[in-house]
Amino acid sequence: PLETSRPGIYVAGAFSSPKEIAETVIDASGAVAESLKLLSGTRGSLSRERLIPPERDISGEPVRLGVFVCRCGTVVADVVDTAAVTQFAARLPDVVHSQEVEFACLPEGIEEIKGAIRAHGLNRVVVAACTPRTHQALFRRVLQEEGLNPYLLEFVSIREHGAWVHADDPAGATRQAKEMVRVGAARARLLQPVHKERRPVKHQTVVLGGGIAGMTAALTLADWGYDVYLVEREAQLGGNVRHIYFTAEGPDPQRFLKTLIRDVECHENIAVLKNSELVGFEGRVGDFRSTVRTRHPDGTTTTRVIEHGVLIVATGAQEYRGPVYLFGQDPRVITQMDLERRIATALEEIAALNEVVMIQCVQPPNAAMEYCSRTCCTNTMKNALRIKEINPDCKITVLYKDLITYGFREEFYTEARRRGVLFVRYEEGQRPTVQVVDGRLQVRSRDPILGTTLVWEPDLLALSMASVPDESNARLARLLGVPLSREGFFMEDHLKLRPVDFSIDGIFLCGSAHYPKFIEEAISHAKAAAGRAMTILTKDEREVGGVVAVVDQTKCVGCLTCVRTCPFHIPRIQPNAVGVGGILGAAYIEPANCTGCGTCTSECPADAIQLTTFHDRQVVIEDAAVLGQWCPG
Ligand SMILES: Cc1cc2nc3c(=O)[nH]c(=O)nc-3n(C[C@H](O)[C@H](O)[C@H](O)COP(=O)(O)OP(=O)(O)OC[C@H]3O[C@@H](n4cnc5c(N)ncnc54)[C@H](O)[C@@H]3O)c2cc1C
Ligand code: SF4
Ligand code: SF4
Repeated sequence: PLETSRPGIYVAGAFSSPKEIAETVIDASGAVAESLKLLSGTRGSLSRERLIPPERDISGEPVRLGVFVCRCGTVVADVVDTAAVTQFAARLPDVVHSQEVEFACLPEGIEEIKGAIRAHGLNRVVVAACTPRTHQALFRRVLQEEGLNPYLLEFVSIREHGAWVHADDPAGATRQAKEMVRVGAARARLLQPVHKERRPVKHQTVVLGGGIAGMTAALTLADWGYDVYLVEREAQLGGNVRHIYFTAEGPDPQRFLKTLIRDVECHENIAVLKNSELVGFEGRVGDFRSTVRTRHPDGTTTTRVIEHGVLIVATGAQEYRGPVYLFGQDPRVITQMDLERRIATALEEIAALNEVVMIQCVQPPNAAMEYCSRTCCTNTMKNALRIKEINPDCKITVLYKDLITYGFREEFYTEARRRGVLFVRYEEGQRPTVQVVDGRLQVRSRDPILGTTLVWEPDLLALSMASVPDESNARLARLLGVPLSREGFFMEDHLKLRPVDFSIDGIFLCGSAHYPKFIEEAISHAKAAAGRAMTILTKDEREVGGVVAVVDQTKCVGCLTCVRTCPFHIPRIQPNAVGVGGILGAAYIEPANCTGCGTCTSECPADAIQLTTFHDRQVVIEDAAVLGQWCPG
């Protein structure tokens, strides 16, 4: 779906069809993964190693603080009086240099900052500018290139938190900028170097789920030369697409699936583990250990432990097949997937039909959440159009609540109407009913436009059942320590901006395990997941640490508060570690896993946990008026 007719040119986002942000981000990551395939031979050939001088030991130095106030052209300077803020900063304790910069992030600005660090022997730096979200990494690098530890930077956001939100109050915004710089400078005086650990990265990947998404992700990584373990619970690869015989757009999914399965099963870098499931999981990004249990035909099971650097969840979704509208009780009531199989394999039966009714949005009874299963409406158009092709006289009525044929698929709805398929709306509180009367299947539905109840006696009733998450999701999510959505699908780290990542580094998500998706969407998502995995697999080592929680075990009372409150289940009690008063058992937080959210830090009753660069004394800052206090302007 990301390729164009011209090799080497890929397409992403709304350029190909109307898309929302998450799909666009997924496409973009997938397109990068596709292009990397072409570039694999030359990867890294144009990259240069960054020369970083040895880090200066500042332990014996008095604090020498530099403050740089960015005008951001006119964006900040039109609102905030940056000259006044710079003069104000010059009078703050330990500030030996303060300077206005036109654009701190452009090469000239960076050179000015570097020059000042050298000229004034600075050992702490405050940058008052836009937002750390986008620019902190850049300025940390600037410090590194001048021989300073990157964590000796304090970022103050006078644009996003000041100029932009107080554009109509320049005097107030200037006053606020001074206060933020004052507190930033006070914090910067307490900054200490932070050193990260380097750990080796294992270059193997585990992919859970051998549907179209899992196989695509596995093949993409394997083609790049990485070893992949593809873990499939069933005896066959293929997932749902094994039951899809044609698509609305035309291409034959079975041919595509057969080729994909062959490529996966024959690939020297892919080990396919069928009848297998994940039963144990531990470790951290770059260094996971998965225990996989395999069932054998003779009823025995074996387990194996796989060491790997990343994991991709591609466990898909399924068509609901529970007891609604007489499904499972009357053979004339079938699902859209059943209907598709009959269209593909029993032409004569379809040719003999007089009347078919289809009901959309069929949810499991007592479903906790109702949601759109995305593919069903298009699937209904697809099946209705095929029946009309085979048997133009067959009467087809679609009972719907909402009809959503995403993007350009609207054309199939238009075509279905043109071919005489009838669409009758029902309202949420008045769903259709189905019963057998004198041996005949009877469907009744109230038409809100006509204000009357209509009755059909079809030969077949096809239900557009919801796509439901896999039953194993809850157990799997607990094992991996990743969240599920309220609907029971796997939940990405950020709805719009990180639709492939989990909040735990090194675990990625693709396909219908995320939410129901069309085949091409599942493929793009899988390529995106492979691309994201590559950002880890291409490295031999990974830095861990930075802003993370650290337990002082000599203060720990082993109360388990951190173990219970950490949203990512990171803290563990080390049974042999000695805690307060010599008791055995103290908490440990693995720096490679900690996200630095700070929850445990504030909850620990023994005050035994500190967050690097946010130590209590760096938050409370005793020798500067901080919380709720304004200095004279
Ligand atoms: C009725 C219906 C009709 C559809 N029609 C169309 C269509 O016409 N066109 C279209 O584009 N799309 C269609 N789709 C959507 C299409 O099926 C999906 O896009 C596709 O199946 C998604 O692939 P996947 O790999 O994400 O998930 P799946 O196909 O669901 O594959 C997931 C795989 O993971 C395995 N698995 C699950 N749990 C575990 C576990 N814990 N450990 C190991 N393995 C596990 C499963 O056995 C399965 O093999 C339809 C879907 C449905 C339900
Ligand atoms: S909350 Fe504090 S005292 Fe309790 S186990 Fe964790 S680190 Fe130890
Ligand atoms: S800082 Fe957050 S992620 Fe890290 S251990 Fe504490 S609660 Fe967990």
